[in-house]
Amino acid sequence: MKIVFLGPPGAGKGTQSARLVQKYGVVQLSTGDMLRTAVQAGSPVGLRAKAVMEQGGLVSDEIVIGITSERIEKSDCANGYILDGFPRTVAQAKALDAILSEKGVQLDAIIELIVDEAAMIDRITKRRQDAVAAGQPERKDDDPNVFKERLVKYREDTAPVSAYYRAAGRLKAVDGMQSIDQVSRDIDAILAAG
Ligand code: AMP
Repeated sequence: MKIVFLGPPGAGKGTQSARLVQKYGVVQLSTGDMLRTAVQAGSPVGLRAKAVMEQGGLVSDEIVIGITSERIEKSDCANGYILDGFPRTVAQAKALDAILSEKGVQLDAIIELIVDEAAMIDRITKRRQDAVAAGQPERKDDDPNVFKERLVKYREDTAPVSAYYRAAGRLKAVDGMQSIDQVSRDIDAILAAG
């Protein structure tokens, strides 16, 4: 089973991916994690990616497609995988199609978790106010301004990717504002429908 998961930070991709990993024995592949590991290891890829990542930009398609295509060849991917954070550009989406079609396989589902950005920002703001009121340390990534920036950046980066899959009739949208269990049920229904 091969799944692409699209959706902004905070939409619940991590939670839903963890459930799919349990249920289907697939692995979750995050290009962000792979790149951070490469940066820490000081590998050639890491050295090339470091500055771009620190500025919040996108690492080159060539690098990201390279590490992803190598990663999906590993034996732990035999049951399938969930791609999280990839593709982030249309060029990456097309490269993924080409890599898979060369192997004679295709993606089982491309799922986008749709969320209400204003409601998510409210939720983060509230959580921060509660933490301050309770005298708890504040989480840096809960800063509503930082969070807003990440949402905008995500939208800018991936809107063309969603549009690419939608135009081909391949994108399945799931309402990410529902309960975690309901989101899981919707995802299961999509996967069951094949
Ligand atoms: P993430 O953990 O998915 O937010 O990714 C962290 C950083 O890694 C991003 O800000 C990008 O610099 C880089 N990155 C991750 N995935 C990709 C991708 N598919 N294409 C380009 N850059 C990526």
